[in-house]
Amino acid sequence: MGSTGSIGTQTLDVVREQPERFAVYAITAHRSVDKLVEQAVEFRPEVVCIADESKYGELCEKLNAALGKDADMMKVWAGSDAIAEMVTLPSIDIVVAAMVGYAGLRPTMEAIRAGKTIALANKETLVVAGEIICSLAQQYHAPILPVDSEHSAIFQSLVGEDRSEIEKILLTASGGPFRTWTLDRIAKATAADALRHPNWDMGAKITIDSASMMNKGFEVIEAKWLFGVDVEKIEVLVHPQSIVHSAVQFTDGAVKAQLGAPDMRLPIQYALTFPERVGASFPRLDLFKTANLTFEKPDLERFPNLRLAYDAMHKGGNMPCVLNAANEVVNLAFRQGKMGFLEMSDVIQKTMDATAFISAPAYEDYVASDEEARKIAASMI
Ligand code: MN
Repeated sequence: MGSTGSIGTQTLDVVREQPERFAVYAITAHRSVDKLVEQAVEFRPEVVCIADESKYGELCEKLNAALGKDADMMKVWAGSDAIAEMVTLPSIDIVVAAMVGYAGLRPTMEAIRAGKTIALANKETLVVAGEIICSLAQQYHAPILPVDSEHSAIFQSLVGEDRSEIEKILLTASGGPFRTWTLDRIAKATAADALRHPNWDMGAKITIDSASMMNKGFEVIEAKWLFGVDVEKIEVLVHPQSIVHSAVQFTDGAVKAQLGAPDMRLPIQYALTFPERVGASFPRLDLFKTANLTFEKPDLERFPNLRLAYDAMHKGGNMPCVLNAANEVVNLAFRQGKMGFLEMSDVIQKTMDATAFISAPAYEDYVASDEEARKIAASMI
């Protein structure tokens, strides 16, 4: 899901390297028709699906033009209902959830109900509805394997360990492009400034979240649900070199970490091959060339989103869902030049204050809260 995005294309890089191990059964995109057609021609999936139904005609035409009569063998679907159905097809073993934002929630729930292994890149799914997702995963015996680099590092550090012996999770953050900027300078930051991430090449939405540290706030929540650890036991460390991808401290004081070059293909491959480790030609880490590994405490004054994420988690219920909805609205508005960088946090805070609190939400409550919060946030821009 989300095969034309940053994680999607890198997942297909991994598949291309391991043709004897993986076959692509289905691919989906939001609206990138040309890229989706290109992928369909190379990987020959049985199902191709586009979320934006208005793109269906164009997709069919371009597939026919590119594949000739081979296109008849491919099922071409459109719409979010089709994606939710597609992920349950019996031929599928692993679903890579790599779409952006709230849109990933429903199809991921369907894939879990169908008992699929989930390689989860779409962290918003756990931010919005972590409690439901985790209980469904348990009920339907659907393993959720992290693709996010930090969570993959934590997951790798936990292999062979008893989770009850976790004392602390050390979640690293690059600090983004504004790590050394003053508050005044951050206030005037443009989307172009924020899109210049120092270490990672990612999609636009997550790169803005990374600059505002909302991404790290989301990752705290993601780690809580994935590893069953209270947020108090999750500490964020700003580590500008992005070499230590995260670590776990155990009750005897031992700390285990996973290190590597910043390359998403490694965590993607690990999620796809787990519990096996498989040879790959990814760039190697050269510790002789990484003279300094430094760690700083995050600055909550310049990056208030991190505090908002902890607040949302402490409050619980639908608040993380509201946090996510407001963030999706302001993230887009900032990219469109409609608001300043620091105003994003103000709007998120005010949206959290203004949206009705639900302490034990069901799925329908999340849908309603998401909608309400988006309206409230949009009214302030
Ligand atoms: Mn990450």
